[in-house]
Amino acid sequence: QAKSEGRGNLRFFDPVIQARLEERIALESELRLAIERDQLELFYQVQVDENDRLQGVEALLRWRHPVRGLVPPAAFIGLAEESGLILPIGHWVLETACAQLLAWAGDARTAQLSIAVNVSARQFRQDDFVQQVGGVLERTGAPPRRLKLELTESTVLEDIESTIVKMKALRAFGVRFSMDDFGTGYSSLQYLKRLPLDQLKIDQAFVRDIIDDADDAVIVQAIIAMSHALGLEVIAEGVETREQQQLLGQQGCRFFQGYLFGKPVPLDELAQRLR
Ligand code: C2E
Ligand code: MG
Ligand code: MG
Ligand code: MG
Repeated sequence: QAKSEGRGNLRFFDPVIQARLEERIALESELRLAIERDQLELFYQVQVDENDRLQGVEALLRWRHPVRGLVPPAAFIGLAEESGLILPIGHWVLETACAQLLAWAGDARTAQLSIAVNVSARQFRQDDFVQQVGGVLERTGAPPRRLKLELTESTVLEDIESTIVKMKALRAFGVRFSMDDFGTGYSSLQYLKRLPLDQLKIDQAFVRDIIDDADDAVIVQAIIAMSHALGLEVIAEGVETREQQQLLGQQGCRFFQGYLFGKPVPLDELAQRLR
């Protein structure tokens, strides 16, 4: 709610809106310093197969703020995208995940694990994104096949031709791709067929009600059948109960992620579990 006093002169008088604006500005300037102040951290959530065997992890960003505490991505990713800060932050995430992959590569118990990294649309759209990823892989020495990039439907559909070119170039390094939050966007089968994907990730919104909602169960079944017809692996996210896992398993899903197997945890907690 703003009152206009002559051309181009907006004055905000709603104290709630004013406070929100100030909060946003404060958050942005703090986020700008978060990398150099070493406040960003990757949490890791396990991904398992049908026998509960560990296949890999998803890296999930957290901001360890001295006053605000542990800030979840929902509270700052949007802001990071709008301000452009997602570019250095996304780069930091890639570097950190790849350094972790290298650390795991030397140990037989962890060498097979993959790390899935979320890539935001703005990050992927950069002209030099392929070179950036190539540079990070080269500098860190991480095994490219263990790096899985998670893209969303809206990211890939923004410019499908250039998406395909970039994905192919990254696949040439060995990098793999998962389509995150699948089912919430608008990809047509025509597009799906053309994208060089490895995996579809069923959005947790469908998994949540799969036991009680027959429609969701049918949608999930269709996603799994379609994925397999296209030669794609399927993983379900947000799996919280054995019942959900069983139903998904009956429908042919073989990979799972969710609180049932573990919440996202800091590296040292994951390391304990790996021992
Ligand atoms: P996402 O990639 O779809 O990640 C899954 C989210 O679901 C994570 O939330 C995870 O903690 C949560 N989750 C996992 N299992 C369960 C479960 O069983 N039940 C429920 N209720 N939730 C579960 P988180 O960590 O808060 O991340 C939220 C979103 O933030 C992510 O959604 C992703 O879109 C974004 N994000 C996280 N890290 C990054 C990053 O490094 N870069 C970018 N661009 N986005 C990120
Ligand atoms: Mg994800
Ligand atoms: Mg997701
Ligand atoms: Mg999501």
